[in-house]
Amino acid sequence: MVTSKKKLYEMLEDPLVQQILLDILEDNIEGFDVLTTLIELGEATDDEISRKLNLKLNTVRKLLYKLYDARLVDYTREKEEDINWYTYTWKPTLDKLPWVIKKRVQEKLKKLKEQLTIEENNMFFYCTKCGIKYLFEEAIDCGFRCPHCGGIFKEYDNSRDIELLKDQIKFLEEGLKLSIFSTPLPPVTPKAKGRKGSKRRKVKS
Ligand SMILES: [Zn+2]
Repeated sequence: MVTSKKKLYEMLEDPLVQQILLDILEDNIEGFDVLTTLIELGEATDDEISRKLNLKLNTVRKLLYKLYDARLVDYTREKEEDINWYTYTWKPTLDKLPWVIKKRVQEKLKKLKEQLTIEENNMFFYCTKCGIKYLFEEAIDCGFRCPHCGGIFKEYDNSRDIELLKDQIKFLEEGLKLSIFSTPLPPVTPKAKGRKGSKRRKVKS
């Protein structure tokens, strides 16, 4: 790892980084412990992490795979000859962390902005019984009666939802201004070998 431990811990302290990591870990807060243990040890087997954190081996593996999918950890596999079993040694690959976070924040921002446009340009209703929110068109389609519970609709004031969306958008946009996101990011490793020559074609959608 090129990035120093100190810098990594600083990054992990950042609220925006934490929020996105929690998304990656599907709200499993133990994932932070798994990650910091790996940073601390440099590399470790899932079994070592499990014993150190007193977490179930299965839990540790699930968390490691989530981090692996986000390209924040990597592993090497070794076969234990006599018991025909594989040992997985994990290590953090957090040099890409700012890039991973930035990409996810941008995706999130896109979705939130789309949602904001919908909220700002539509009228909403809600079911007084179960609380589900409906677009005006949906409410007409089901005759102003909730298809889930038969409850009656009332007009819904979405100004609070709009406010929350705007707050979240502002938080993410401010977060992207952090210095860790302005440093040049490592080049993306090509996915498959032998495809260097192929050009990406633009497809009209
Ligand atoms: Zn209902």
